[in-house]
Order: sequence, then C-alpha cells, then structure tokens
Amino acid sequence: MQDLAFENSFVRELPADTVLVNEPRPVANAAYTRVEPTPVAAPRLLAWSEDLAQYLGIAFSPDEKPFIAEVFSGNRILSGMQPYAARYGGHQFGHWAGQLGDGRAITLGEIIATDGRRHELQLKGAGRTPYSRTADGRAVLRSSVREFLCSEAMHALGVPTTRALSLVATGEAVIRDMFYDGNPRPEPGAVVCRVAPSFVRFGNFQIHAAHQEHKALKRLLDYVIREHFPQSSYEDFFREACVRTARLMVDWMRLGFVHGVMNTDNMSILGLTIDYGPYGWLEGYDPLWTPNTTDAQGRRYAYGQQPHIAQWNLARLAEALLPLVPREALEQGLALYSETFNASWQQAFFSKIGLTSRNDGDEELLRELFEGLAEGETDFTLFFRGLAEVAPERPSLEPLRRAFYADAPRPRLQAWLERYASRLIQDDSTAEERKSRMNRVNPRYVPRNYLAQLAIDGLEKGDASVLERLMRVLARPYDEQPEEDTLAERRPEWARHRAGCSALSCSS
Ligand code: AMP
Ligand code: MG
Repeated sequence: MQDLAFENSFVRELPADTVLVNEPRPVANAAYTRVEPTPVAAPRLLAWSEDLAQYLGIAFSPDEKPFIAEVFSGNRILSGMQPYAARYGGHQFGHWAGQLGDGRAITLGEIIATDGRRHELQLKGAGRTPYSRTADGRAVLRSSVREFLCSEAMHALGVPTTRALSLVATGEAVIRDMFYDGNPRPEPGAVVCRVAPSFVRFGNFQIHAAHQEHKALKRLLDYVIREHFPQSSYEDFFREACVRTARLMVDWMRLGFVHGVMNTDNMSILGLTIDYGPYGWLEGYDPLWTPNTTDAQGRRYAYGQQPHIAQWNLARLAEALLPLVPREALEQGLALYSETFNASWQQAFFSKIGLTSRNDGDEELLRELFEGLAEGETDFTLFFRGLAEVAPERPSLEPLRRAFYADAPRPRLQAWLERYASRLIQDDSTAEERKSRMNRVNPRYVPRNYLAQLAIDGLEKGDASVLERLMRVLARPYDEQPEEDTLAERRPEWARHRAGCSALSCSS
C-alpha cells in the first residue's frame, strides 16, 4: 500500500481555481479547486471491498490496518496525491440550481488498476470544500453503509457503477435532522472511498456552459473524450453518452432499482450509477413508487419515470454542449437514446421471462404481464426469479406465492400465466436451459432497503457481521445460496413503515 503510484490527470489537464481559500463561495472559470480533506478524530476501518482492492492492486497486512484507516479517512495524504474538489452545477427536480460541486467529496488521486485502466479514488464525507454551501462536508454512517453496500452489489449484478473500496468510521458525530421534523440529533460519521474511471457528471459541463466559459467547456470535453471515449468525434461522444445512459436505464428497470434523485448533477458522463442516496429496490411492483420521501409529492424520480427523466437530463447536457456540437447531432443522439432504450428494454424483459424467439403476440404478452403484476402487491425480484419454476404443462401460481404480499385471488395473473405457458411451449428450449438462462438475468438477492438497515443497526452497535454477510451473499446475486434463503425473502411487514427500511429522506 505504501508504494502506490498516483497520477493526477484531472488536475493536470483542466483549469484550476486560482483562489485557494477553502470557504463556501462561487468559483469562476475552473473545473476544480485544490483542497485537502479535513482530518477526523479517530478513524477506524469498518469494511473493505477485497474484490475491488485486488482489482486495483491494493493490499495491506493486518498491522497496516490503522494506516489504511488514516489514508481512507483523509487524515494522511500520500506522496503523489493532489486532492481536489470538482466544480459542477445541475438541474435539481427540474430547475437549474446553479453551482453545486463536490461539497463533501474530495478526490485523492488516480491509480492504474491491474488491467491498466486508470481510476480515481474519491473520499465522500471528507470535510468542507468551496462547494459545501451551508452544509458540513460530512456524511453519516447510515448513508455511507448504504453507498458502500449498494455500489458493490450493483457491480456484482452487472450494472455499470462507481464502486466502493472502504468504509471508515470517523469517531466524530454528525448532526442530522433525519426526518426533517426539527429534531436534529448527533449520529456517527463515516467516510467512503469511492472508485471510478471518472466522476464527471452532466453538471460539470453545464456549469461551464451556464457561465459562458467556452474555453473551459472545450477543455473538459476534450479531456473526457481523450481519456474515456478515445478516437471519438464530439458527435460520436454525445451519441455514446446517450447509448450508455439508455443501457443504464434498462439495467435499473430490469432489476427494479430506483435511484431516487436523478438530478443532472447525479448523472455520470460514463453512464455509471452514481451518488447512492435515498435509492431503493422495487418490492411491490408499482411504476409510481419512489423510495425518496422528499419526492413523495411529485414522484418525478419514481421507478416508471426514470427512462424519461434520463432523456430529459441528456437534453440538458445537449444544451450545455451546443456551443461545441452541431444541434443536429445532439438531436440525433437524443433520438438514439429512445431507440436504444426501447429495443434494449424489450430485449431485457423478454430475457427475464425466458423467451429466446420473437412471435407476433409477444409485445402484448409483456404488456399484460405488467397488468397482472399490478393486480395485487407483487414482489418484483421474487416474481421474476420464481417464474423460472413455472412448468409450462401445468401453469400454476404456486411457485410465485412467495412474491405475493397479500393472499388475494389473482385471476388476471393466472390468465396471463396460462397464455405465457402456451407461448413457452412454442419456444424450443428445454425447461432446464430456460431456467438457467432466466436465473442469469433475474437475481435471487438484491440489497433491499430493510437489509441495508439491518446492517446499519448492527454497525451502530459495533457489529459488522450483518454487513459482511450481505456483502458476501450479494457478491453472487444470481446464484442459489440455500443457506442464505432468509436474505431473499419479501420485505417483512415490520419494515413497511420503519424509516430507512422502505422509504428514506435525503438527509445523509
Ligand atoms: P446530493 O443531493 O447528495 O446529490 O447533493 C447535492 C449537492 O449538495 C452536491 O453538491 C453535494 O456535494 C452537496 N452536499 C450534500 N450533502 C452535503 C454535506 N453534508 N456537506 C456539503 N455538501 C453537501
Ligand atoms: Mg450528488
């Protein structure tokens, strides 16, 4: 660990803030501000992603553990690191919010992973920066556990995402009003080390465009293309960003993932899932469901809205690129987004129900499936996993019962199942083949909010075993792990209304 080599391409190649005062303020004509993490009282390593560490080529011996906690809390800056906070803006809930930026995230530097790819190491919760506005630059343990757990679970599910290397307790309290009801209380603080090839968001482009900083905008675009879209023209770059975003939306939709805060500052230019806040996983299938209590009124970021919102966000990115990219190419990119999303979404759901060929009535069959799912509260994950158990010769709801939250008759779903069964018979694959194919796309385990909350409850009492067990099981989400069946159950009734177990506020 001591001899890691750091690079700093972002700092080297993009315009720096010339003011070096670490106080909240508007920053002009810069992509970032050089700023160091604020040390914490008593850092302690709570969790570590061995899988990611191996990929990055980072290893440490047991006696180096305190040193690791020092580095990944921000208390110790290693030689070669040039820490910075990025400047970006964004549309929040549909409105331009001006300058946002890394208010509590600080990138330490870049390292070259074992496959030769460059990755940034970024601490979230590392202290104030010029972009902190009125906030404290810190993060609570509960939201840090959620980010750590879900980043790694997403990766194992096969979804592009920023990753998480470490979770460190700071030994300091953070004051939060978790329910926004005027009752702030101290909570344990933590720092997560996130890892990604780049943390650039749509909002990094938007802030330059909003301030007519066209030179800085061009430098950012050239840098992002050189590093991440090699050999692409500006037009290719935007098309590719649209395609990646479309594929990401298909992944979220096929897994029932709801991000919760799809503001343009939370949209990765690489098409990664980024900024895990009040996210959730569909339990009862409901297109209007959102885990974010702050969005309970408008439901702008509900499950079924995500594909449309992603395109709206891409349109805001397109506006920011207008000084550099021909309008026609931007419009083509946005159209390509729709085409890619529609085709890949269908493909993904046909795979989820195990069809390999296409028949005339198949689109109708999918439409009717969603009507059947909405007939009574039906667990999204368990339903699709259970569907592989249905025998086409004897279609029965029996294998699907574990997905039902209420014990009511399901005539619609039963009728659908019969049509589905007769359709399966026309698809020429054996039951075994179909099941193994379906099990590769329909996970058995997802990091449901109540499970994450149990891990948080444990850690707040000093017990890391629940988190460790979840990390272990979620590393193989598509595999049967019979001894871990209890982690693949419906959300229990006690969790329906408990804070953090279904819905969450943005307080983090
Ligand atoms: P988010 O809702 O997490 O995407 O954050 C929106 C903006 O608020 C970003 O610029 C964040 O860096 C900033 N922010 C959120 N929480 C804090 C905090 N505790 N301290 C400083 N900045 C924050
Ligand atoms: Mg954010």
